[in-house]
Amino acid sequence: MALVPFDDRDGFVWWNGSLVAWRDAKLHVLTHGLHYASAVFEGERAYGGKVFRLREHSQRLIDSARILGFELPYTVEQIDAATNEVVAANGQPDCYIRPIAWRGSEMMGVSAQQSKINVAIASWAWGSYFQDKEKGIRMTWAKWSRPAPNTAPTASKAAGLYMICTMSKHEAEKNGYADAVMLDWRGQLAEATGANIFLAIDGVLHTPKPDCFLDGITRRSVIAMAKSRQIQVVERAIWPDELARAQEVFLTGTAAEITPVGEIGEYKFTPGAITKALLDDFGRATRGEVDFPIQ
Ligand code: PMP
Repeated sequence: MALVPFDDRDGFVWWNGSLVAWRDAKLHVLTHGLHYASAVFEGERAYGGKVFRLREHSQRLIDSARILGFELPYTVEQIDAATNEVVAANGQPDCYIRPIAWRGSEMMGVSAQQSKINVAIASWAWGSYFQDKEKGIRMTWAKWSRPAPNTAPTASKAAGLYMICTMSKHEAEKNGYADAVMLDWRGQLAEATGANIFLAIDGVLHTPKPDCFLDGITRRSVIAMAKSRQIQVVERAIWPDELARAQEVFLTGTAAEITPVGEIGEYKFTPGAITKALLDDFGRATRGEVDFPIQ
């Protein structure tokens, strides 16, 4: 199937305050965000025209920028409204949404104190992130580790943090796997290249403490769903060999939604009752039939 490049599509992009024609949403090559990764972004999904957890995503965009040392020139309410505006304008009630904020072209060096902060939001129809995910995806180990919190802004959804994710994902795909599990700098389980990870061990859910990677909004939603079903959830340091004790493993993320995992390296899992129950809850939550308030 021929790729339709992302810069050559119909529709609208919200760009610094107003909607522009999709193909006109262009940057100059001398943009600080491109050279120095001074950019933060979000990934969201709308279901039936309603953006799932919109406020949390808009707030995280603002918080990610603050961690990198810049302030967005919009309030959280304005970003929510802009997101709804672009989703409506593009006419796809089920879509993926990509807000991004970046330092512009005013300064071109490590120091960029006077650079203008830009914000754009695009949306497009997008189905499942993983193919055949129902039976459980095949994963391998990444050779890159998540950096320690004193070596990178790990709580931010910063563009620069994705460099090792793309490298890890490409290596996995080259070897026939859908994705890779990344360890952290201590050698403990961290997450996938764009999603968090959960293990079901004897009826209890275990997930790594998000102290050096993104505390996903889907992750927090799934914890709330599990608790409402009286499923115990333990956030803790998890060593990779503990996968031997897990009966079920799944990933959570806006793109991945809830994705069952069939294997990680030598460890094998079978999606079971816990994964199925949470998939059911997630479907109802995203359709707006039920709300699971998150902490
Ligand atoms: N970790 C990484 C590296 C991600 O890119 C994502 C997707 N944003 C997640 C975790 C999951 O976050 P969320 O559930 O908020 O989409």
